Amino acid sequence: MALIELTDVTKTFALPHGGAKVAVDGVSLSVEQGECLGIIGESGSGKSTLGRLILRLYDADSGSVVLEGQDIRALSRRELRRHRHRWQIVFQEPYASLNPRLTIGQIVEEPLIVHGGYGGRAARRERVTSTLQEVGLSPDFLDRRPANLSGGQQQRVGIARALVTDPSLVVLDEPTASLDLTIRASTLRMLNRLRESRGLTYVFISHDIETVRHFCSRVVVMHHGRFVEGGTAQQVLDAPVEDYTRNLMAAAMPPIPYRGRAAVLDDLDVSGES
Ligand code: ADP
Repeated sequence: MALIELTDVTKTFALPHGGAKVAVDGVSLSVEQGECLGIIGESGSGKSTLGRLILRLYDADSGSVVLEGQDIRALSRRELRRHRHRWQIVFQEPYASLNPRLTIGQIVEEPLIVHGGYGGRAARRERVTSTLQEVGLSPDFLDRRPANLSGGQQQRVGIARALVTDPSLVVLDEPTASLDLTIRASTLRMLNRLRESRGLTYVFISHDIETVRHFCSRVVVMHHGRFVEGGTAQQVLDAPVEDYTRNLMAAAMPPIPYRGRAAVLDDLDVSGES
């Protein structure tokens, strides 16, 4: 059974001055457990909306979204809350997604308190500390606040907050787009290592084709809210069938010579230490 099964999912937004925008238009896809599915497409093609529909952070207008065998569109709000700890998201802008008034310890503990069932304060703290360690942050960070951290460290906190409830699925919405290139590479290596060690399933939303090529096993291309093509990363990115994908790739081609970036990304193939 696939971990994610989307069938003919559509989402339309009402526009403030009248009219409507179809952000996701009849998309179907499936993701197997332990897989990383990349979603690519130019800005405005519906990638983020699709990521949010998968987690029911947005309600779809039609179609079905089945996660781990659960038709999540059929769940009541209350039932959905009970499942939320299994399905998490990491956002593009770590600083904007972290409450500046809370300490790192409080930020990572918050989902444990919201979802409940993780024991008392001491048990929660232990879980927070070990999750922070898993993302490369020592207990020294527990009492610091987001403003005192670098961008890469802030994103590690965002990742720890997503992982602390022990999810099966994480939607990564451009998680490294705001980071410097070298920090980006180490963050992606860490995410890859966590996927392997925890058996996580990722949906990785990105406009950066080279990152998706290195990071994802399968890829879906979107344009104007529609599914354009999908397949293994190699199939889609080395031999795209659709003109749209070819144009997307041509537009993303780095100028020549441009060795530095490729070298950093090649480094991602090392499926090991961060
Ligand atoms: P991407 O992630 O590929 O950049 P999005 O999913 O963010 O694309 O957006 C797809 C389309 O839906 C865009 O035209 C965007 O303006 C529109 N859109 C996204 N969210 C909203 C919203 N909350 N209200 C109105 N329009 C939206």
